[in-house]
Amino acid sequence: MIPMPELPEVETTRQGILPYCEGQVVTQMHIRERRLRWLIPARLESMLQGQKILGIDRRSKYLLWRFNNGVMIMHLGMSGVVRVLQEYLPPQKHDHVDIELASKVLIRFTDPRRFGAILWTDDITAHKLLMALGPEPLTADFSAAYLVEKLKATARPIKLAIMDAHVVVGVGNIYANEALFLSSLHPERPANSLSLPECDILVQNIKYVLAKAIKAGGTTLKDFLQSDGRPGYFRHELLVYGRKSQPCVNCAMLLTEIRLNNRSTVFCQQCQV
Ligand SMILES: [Zn+2]
Repeated sequence: MIPMPELPEVETTRQGILPYCEGQVVTQMHIRERRLRWLIPARLESMLQGQKILGIDRRSKYLLWRFNNGVMIMHLGMSGVVRVLQEYLPPQKHDHVDIELASKVLIRFTDPRRFGAILWTDDITAHKLLMALGPEPLTADFSAAYLVEKLKATARPIKLAIMDAHVVVGVGNIYANEALFLSSLHPERPANSLSLPECDILVQNIKYVLAKAIKAGGTTLKDFLQSDGRPGYFRHELLVYGRKSQPCVNCAMLLTEIRLNNRSTVFCQQCQV
């Protein structure tokens, strides 16, 4: 099974496809299946035809394709992949959308489970999917001072708090597990019990695990984006996630797994308090 694309995969995708897309004109768009998580807007092909891609930004796990007349919002959902085809390949069953560029490069969106999305907006600041999002984890806006303030009013487990997109975007389950382990914080600690120094360590470790994954993706995912191979989102070297009942790398005690919000939560009872 392909792991779900998280923020690092989305960012690596953005970096991988950008050089082929930026400044390019869309000659044609082919939509073979409109029923993704939401319907692809009916007018999208005509909106994009002849338009130049000014850039591709990322906000949370959304890819924002900027055009003069608006922004195409793309989400990879559970299983979405965007690839760059430099040679035409006949579309397969789950290849729902092709964007043909004047350079003859084809951008292909594939999504077997169809939880992804392709939408359009002419006002990105007011879009309902993007409006209420917390800060980007890799920017200076996500700081210890910000986090301690944000957590003041909530006693829910810290793991759930950092996975809440209103607090900070893009901290998926794997990264929450890893960052809490590196910070020696028990995943069930009440969020408002964290001190400023603890928030500082946690913020640094969230940035560290995400940046490391993006860096790893740069070397492994990029090759894939430009090939016709099967999807291969990168596997990470993980310290706790997926290591239930294996020894802790710090103290050798066997790691414990619990469910929080029905998500696998693996931690060391000795190191994380
Ligand atoms: Zn330990």
